[in-house]
Amino acid sequence: MYEYEPAALAELLVGEPRYRVDQIWQGLWRDGLDLADITTIPKTLRAKLVQDFPSSLTVANDVESDNGATRKWVFRLHDGATIETVLMRYADRVTVCVSSQAGCAMGCTFCATGQAGYSRQLTPGEVIEQVIFATRAAAPRRLSNVVFMGMGEPLANYDTTVAVVRRLHEHKGMSARHLTVSTVGVAPAIERLATEGLPLTLAVSLHAANNTTRDELVPLNRRYPLERLYEACQKWIDATSRRLSFEWALIDGVNDTDRAIDELAGYASGLNAHVNLIPLNPTPGYLVMGSSPERVNEFRDGLVDLGINVTVRNTRGRSIDAACGQLAAVTNGKRRSVTLRSR
Ligand code: SAH
Ligand code: SF4
Repeated sequence: MYEYEPAALAELLVGEPRYRVDQIWQGLWRDGLDLADITTIPKTLRAKLVQDFPSSLTVANDVESDNGATRKWVFRLHDGATIETVLMRYADRVTVCVSSQAGCAMGCTFCATGQAGYSRQLTPGEVIEQVIFATRAAAPRRLSNVVFMGMGEPLANYDTTVAVVRRLHEHKGMSARHLTVSTVGVAPAIERLATEGLPLTLAVSLHAANNTTRDELVPLNRRYPLERLYEACQKWIDATSRRLSFEWALIDGVNDTDRAIDELAGYASGLNAHVNLIPLNPTPGYLVMGSSPERVNEFRDGLVDLGINVTVRNTRGRSIDAACGQLAAVTNGKRRSVTLRSR
């Protein structure tokens, strides 16, 4: 049902009084209810709608960590494809991390999703349902933030990403500060996104600021190298006047060197970008470790000394394979995890 905009919903319900359409819309969007729980509409209509428009998400796995502060679901979609969604409760906000594709075609070497490959695009309704599902699970707290950092490359599913951001803003009242799209750096799509007038924050997964290393970590860099990406970032800032952030997964001996500090500082300072550091979560297909906590701090201090704004993000949900794509791999039986604890 979350596939439909108000006009399309009204068309589906042709013959029903106008207020019914409003009741259903409010039930879905304002109250975040399952169709079956919208008790303001008659039972027979409800039963028919539930049958005709089943939820697109079936829970295939449900685990939690950080003493319940982090919860992660693997959902099976109607065609058997699996995606994952993570709910993170912080002191000051509740964030859901959504998938934009089933799998990912970008093939980043360190990423579990990249290692598993691509299945298909998600529809706007499939992404929105992840948000609504998490909204319910977050109660009584209010879900405040949505980040596109689950499976998939949101800018390789451009239309869906734009539709979801627009609808969450219009129908759920979410603001730009609270909607973050993370991209591996699809330069032309960043430039196009800049012209949409959308209320969102952009995060670019940089991970390396020299082309040799970035080519290895992020194959898309061969198509849109750092110079091209820089141009797109500049256009984003010029068009939106919004600050950009760079994601940097610290990998032991690969991108956590003193030289990397200088390169990153050089790249980020011209764009006045904020840098988010996170130690790499090891994955089975890439046998390199994340940087030690000491090195993470040294790396941060090195950047701060060069005038860069930095945040060290903690690795939420490490024990439930919360890094991109990992739990889905476990659920699909591709690998076993000793730390997995089902509810
Ligand atoms: N495709 C988009 C968004 C999904 S990935 C992107 O790449 O930005 C979300 C974030 O998780 C990215 O910053 C990605 O680089 C990071 N990530 C992927 N695998 C990781 C791992 N094993 N450890 C730490 N971060 C990882
Ligand atoms: Fe895809 Fe992002 Fe993983 Fe790269 S890091 S493979 S772009 S999901």
